[in-house]
Amino acid sequence: MSDGYKYIFGPVPSRRLGRSLGVDLVPAKVCTFDCIYCQAGRTTNKTIERTEYVPTADVIAELSDWLPGGAADYVTFSGNGEPTLHSGIGEIIAWLNANSGVPVVVVTNGSLFRLPDVRDELASADLVVPSLDTANPVTFRRLNRPDPSLDIETVIEGLVTFAKEFAGEIWLEHFIVPGINDTPAELKALAEAGARIGPARVQLNTAVRPPAETTVRPMPYAELCAIAEKYFPGAEVIAAYDGESAGRRGAAPDPAATARSLMSRRPITAEDLARTAGIDIKLAEKTLELLVQSGEAAVEERDGGRFYSKL
Ligand code: SF4
Repeated sequence: MSDGYKYIFGPVPSRRLGRSLGVDLVPAKVCTFDCIYCQAGRTTNKTIERTEYVPTADVIAELSDWLPGGAADYVTFSGNGEPTLHSGIGEIIAWLNANSGVPVVVVTNGSLFRLPDVRDELASADLVVPSLDTANPVTFRRLNRPDPSLDIETVIEGLVTFAKEFAGEIWLEHFIVPGINDTPAELKALAEAGARIGPARVQLNTAVRPPAETTVRPMPYAELCAIAEKYFPGAEVIAAYDGESAGRRGAAPDPAATARSLMSRRPITAEDLARTAGIDIKLAEKTLELLVQSGEAAVEERDGGRFYSKL
């Protein structure tokens, strides 16, 4: 585990990427969007300014310290905001390519690909996972609540340009929110925009974790499957991660510390903690309940699951 580090976390169980060592390049919560479904809460610094939000050298120092003894399937730039806002992302990817054999993934909202610098800096990643939730300007403002300077057609054009230039793989994610972007016209336009980008994979997601706005509900699994079949043939509905994630470093010595580290990024379930820490589910449940009792965590029942968040 990467307890004690400021910018790297995990490896965390990822529904898409197995054991993923996370790299968080912006503080909570800096983003170009303020999506109503965001599991990291509301955006507090909505911006398109690219700068060194955290010291590039410190991020590289943490990776350099962790990687020799750690085990991860991927190093993933994701976390509490939009990683392409960090002006040092290209330098960090270049360092990873030169110093580790671990594939590099960038999870991004895709909003800055109109910028040649961003496309160049991500060129040597192995996998880029952009999201695109709508092709409709009105829905874009309602769902993604972007920086006012962004418009959806320019975002899509940027993604199309990046896809033409990029030698690695692109997996395109569509996040579906019932009542917002699930009408036939929305889905048809979204599918057409996705076809222009031409990703290797299309993945459908929905709000399985507590969202920024409590009015957002998850799309039921069967309905998401029906949408996939009708509008996005061959698309995957992202299922809950069910792999193992305890790294070569073995079970974390302190499950509570692991829970705090995970909860600082997103709400977690006992299953998330059990997988990440390599501990029994009963111990994970007990650890989280103790954190609730001590006032360090809050628990929320949602869609049949218990989600724990840092207080
Ligand atoms: S879901 Fe992603 S793009 Fe949307 S506000 Fe959250 S971090 Fe930003």
